[in-house]
Amino acid sequence: MPGRATPADRATPMPHFTIIGAGPVGTLMGLMLARRAQRVRLIERRPDPRTAPPERGRSINLALAARGMVALEQAGLSDRIAPQMIAMPGRMLHDEHAALQFLPYGQNEEEVIHAIGREPLNRILIEAVAAHPHIELSFNTRCVDLDPQAGTLQLRDEPSGSTRSESFEILLAADGAGSAVRAALVARALSRAEERPLAHDYKELLIPAIERGTPPSYAFEPHALHIWPRGGFMLIALPNTDRSFTATLFLPREGDPGFDRLSRGEAVRAFFRQQFADAAAVIPDLEQQFALHPQSQLGTVYCQGWQAQGRVLLLGDAAHAIVPFHGQGLNCGFEDCRVLDRLLAGHGDSAGALAEFERQRRPNTDAIAAMALENYLEMRADVRSAQFAQRQRLAAELERDFPGRFIRRYSMVMFHPEIPYAEAQRRGAQQEQLLDTLVERFGYDLSQPGARAYAERLLGAAGL
Ligand SMILES: Cc1cc2nc3c(=O)[nH]c(=O)nc-3n(C[C@H](O)[C@H](O)[C@H](O)COP(=O)(O)OP(=O)(O)OC[C@H]3O[C@@H](n4cnc5c(N)ncnc54)[C@H](O)[C@@H]3O)c2cc1C
Repeated sequence: MPGRATPADRATPMPHFTIIGAGPVGTLMGLMLARRAQRVRLIERRPDPRTAPPERGRSINLALAARGMVALEQAGLSDRIAPQMIAMPGRMLHDEHAALQFLPYGQNEEEVIHAIGREPLNRILIEAVAAHPHIELSFNTRCVDLDPQAGTLQLRDEPSGSTRSESFEILLAADGAGSAVRAALVARALSRAEERPLAHDYKELLIPAIERGTPPSYAFEPHALHIWPRGGFMLIALPNTDRSFTATLFLPREGDPGFDRLSRGEAVRAFFRQQFADAAAVIPDLEQQFALHPQSQLGTVYCQGWQAQGRVLLLGDAAHAIVPFHGQGLNCGFEDCRVLDRLLAGHGDSAGALAEFERQRRPNTDAIAAMALENYLEMRADVRSAQFAQRQRLAAELERDFPGRFIRRYSMVMFHPEIPYAEAQRRGAQQEQLLDTLVERFGYDLSQPGARAYAERLLGAAGL
């Protein structure tokens, strides 16, 4: 028989959901639950970003695509996010001689990705969370351990270092790639996890606005994702609303070239002059930035057993961190929020929803993890060949001629949230085979007699 609520219970009933991590995924999940009148408690180890300076060393801006946008829309945040976004309709490739080539991403002006600063995105989410009467928000509070069976968690007050134990009903862990909750589940043999590091690290550098003239201008075309592909490594740059760019160097940790060879300022300048001359010319304090900014690692988290005892669930990077080369880590985490919210709304018992979440999501997160790794090769190497551009053009033509049947894999991932990642991966592989066969017979020219009919037959044979 359910116990009677005491006066103390009535004053502060235990929130139904406890979320660890008020990053983008934790906050969005909290908002979605609160919009369905669920009571939520959000626990974040860092200080309140509305009053504390932004942390250094985390990626400064991100690419948002359709999966992330629909989730933000569902939470009623699109209008607040839109002014912070800069459309990037394609890639701008910079070769070794600073010659430029623009390759559009999509078929029309709606098929674009958007650069957004992590700081404004987080701030908007935190403001929305803080303003919601159903959400309780605690900063400077770190989850250090939890016991899913007992329904208790250990929290540490960061400023004082004191720890306390609290109870929870359902705990959602959105505490990022290095998740303490995942570690606690693994330690109790409730989950299995493998963190597979990449042999390449990254470092972020600021390309400032050009101050000549009023107003100051962007150093490069702002409406593009800039790539300096160099085969074994690359530099990329995304625009910021203050007319600067955030550039990111992805480079092997060791080797020639490698981060280990770039310990001196002159070596850094010489390397940039040789490889990325046009970028080097617009980063006057390159050597200082290189010395000051952190060199950070990348990797993929493969985890099984996202839920425990029907009351703990990992989501976002905590469950499935991936490398950033498809610009999908956060988009995927935001999609997690939509899927989980739908399951929780539709299931009578939350335990069933948590189990179903992993069953539905893991094939898709495994697929985007693999596609993100593949995309590194495409971005840093494949895009350099003339064949790549020809193949892209042919694929775009097929997409126009056979709408809904042939959709480039990049487009399925970035612009078609209705197509799950695993399906995008499967259809993408079929399409690659189809392109090989078509090119072998007709080259890259779809206007050749019989080429379209042949493509149609190939699509039919592949069940597309
Ligand atoms: C270089 C780089 C570029 C990227 N570019 C893109 C991109 O273009 N597009 C894209 O979609 N994704 C991108 N990503 C991926 C994206 O950053 C992540 O997928 C996303 O931040 C995951 O969100 P999250 O909320 O799950 O985790 P996080 O953003 O890591 O947030 C976790 C939160 O939990 C808090 N926390 C951690 N541990 C605890 C604890 N023990 N107790 C309490 N709180 C805790 C943290 O302080 C943090 O606030 C990129 C990643 C990198 C590294």
